[in-house]
Amino acid sequence: MPYLTVQSRRRAELIDITDQVRDLVARHKVTEGALLLFVPHTTAGILINENADPDVAEDILATLADLVPRQGAYRHGEGNSDAHIKTVLTGSSVLVPIFQGRLGLGTWQGIYLAEFDGPRRRQVTATFLAPIPE
Ligand code: ZN
Repeated sequence: MPYLTVQSRRRAELIDITDQVRDLVARHKVTEGALLLFVPHTTAGILINENADPDVAEDILATLADLVPRQGAYRHGEGNSDAHIKTVLTGSSVLVPIFQGRLGLGTWQGIYLAEFDGPRRRQVTATFLAPIPE
């Protein structure tokens, strides 16, 4: 199964992987269909949002940190319960259309790996979904 490798540098970070995903689509010469990107981790997720203004990514991280404090009355003994919960909020997959060999993203959209318990080396698996032949 094709996959991307992403190295995070901070504990919590949104890493723009749009260019890596574009390269993957080009390398596999897929022109129509969709791409399922899946993060096989429990403390990192994936999301699509604005990548024009980097403040948006920072606002998302700051708001998630406010919603889910690092310290709390958590039962999980590893000390990273906030990372597990933030991963639930972002989700573990996105489905991106592929149209005429290009990602069908909106002008301001980028694809981010959402790291919540880094720094770590993460994987994003890629499953191409082909349209039904006419
Ligand atoms: Zn844990």
